[in-house]
Amino acid sequence: MRQTQLFTKTSKDNPSDEVSKNAQLLIRAGYIHKEMAGVYSILPLGYRVMEKIIGIVKQEMDAIGGIQMKTSAIQSKEVWEKTNRWSDDVVDNWFKTTLKNGTEVGLSFTNEEAYSNIVKNFVSSYKDLPLYPYDFKTIFRNETRSKSGIMRGREFYWKALYSFSADQEQHDLFYEKAKVAYSNVYKRVGLGDSTYMTFASGGTFSKYSHEFQTVSEAGEDLIYIDEAKGIAINKEVFTDDVLAELGIDKSTVIEKKAIEVGNIFSLGFKFSEPFELTYKTAEGTEVPVFMGSYGIGITRLMGTIVEVLSDEKGIVWPETVAPFKVHLLSLGDTAEQAESIYSQLLANGIEVLFDDRQGVSAGAKFADSDLLGIPHRVVVSDRSLAQGGLEYKQRTSTEATIVSVESLIQQLTA
Ligand code: ATP
Ligand code: MG
Repeated sequence: MRQTQLFTKTSKDNPSDEVSKNAQLLIRAGYIHKEMAGVYSILPLGYRVMEKIIGIVKQEMDAIGGIQMKTSAIQSKEVWEKTNRWSDDVVDNWFKTTLKNGTEVGLSFTNEEAYSNIVKNFVSSYKDLPLYPYDFKTIFRNETRSKSGIMRGREFYWKALYSFSADQEQHDLFYEKAKVAYSNVYKRVGLGDSTYMTFASGGTFSKYSHEFQTVSEAGEDLIYIDEAKGIAINKEVFTDDVLAELGIDKSTVIEKKAIEVGNIFSLGFKFSEPFELTYKTAEGTEVPVFMGSYGIGITRLMGTIVEVLSDEKGIVWPETVAPFKVHLLSLGDTAEQAESIYSQLLANGIEVLFDDRQGVSAGAKFADSDLLGIPHRVVVSDRSLAQGGLEYKQRTSTEATIVSVESLIQQLTA
């Protein structure tokens, strides 16, 4: 894509009404637009990042048997009354509205009821199980606090998968697979080193749930990590009993602030019972389906990557989620040569943002490039051409080298 076609522009100044690093950088670089506190529009560059993250999550969900669908955002009161979650006394973050005919409706703040209500129409026998539907969806929560940029939106985007199993044994098999798929997601988006699977509070059907927590000063949660054992525990379950059960000595753990980038939870019969989501076993008895839930905040994950990996010059995207692989900068009077290089990179299937702007100083182009955070920077200038090629530098390195177009393409497509 040509930068002259990209309508967004960068800004030198931090927005005065944002305290979080992710919102400041993403707004300055033109990835997102703030509509109001906790509500952001995703601009073209941001959308490309989101699509990359979605692609990775989708691959990992499909790999463990997930089947993608789409539940509606508008939800009916009757469905949520089945689990007593319609009442504002029980759920304090609903966005509700009324239809012209007076019917009350709500905007999804989560998905368990919607899925249970749908799946019960299709499950009647043990042969119908297990099944793992999931969706990507805009979720609405009237959050009290919204100072964490896109990490805590009043409107945000997530992936939610629900497992429907015949019994606990079948459920547990999938639950273990989900742990692996989740770890893969965080590794693939570049957060593998800083993300821990933590023991968090459970429910009636399991002692623990598991959260995926990325260590960051911007985090709203506290976790306790035993590095040697590779175990982490959420503050809410950090008791002497739990420590004893997990074989951890309190003196060996370190406390860290962390961002909850996902969680997995055994729901058991909590939703299947009120929805009468049951099936007939091979022996002919009618029993409830055993459920689990698996969430990942897509926009929160995008914000977390910015929080954890950016530096003093701007954003640093891992290649897997970057909006483009290469940022091609044409400096001075090199439009013709740069056009040719742009075409050659595209012809080799490389995603390029081409800074083809005329009359913008080299300094301004370099600063923009650092702010945007595209992993590979390629500069075409009179100087580089005189030296026989292009100036190549990775976003995270300080050293630039002169390379030929051929060797650059070879390196980038290797
Ligand atoms: P938190 O404890 O941070 O409020 P939660 O436990 O309520 O989150 P879930 O309802 O389990 O979150 O949602 C699943 C995932 O969605 C979370 O792990 C998180 O990554 C993401 N998420 C939750 N709330 C928000 C939000 N307001 N904005 C962006 N992402 C969110
Ligand atoms: Mg939580």
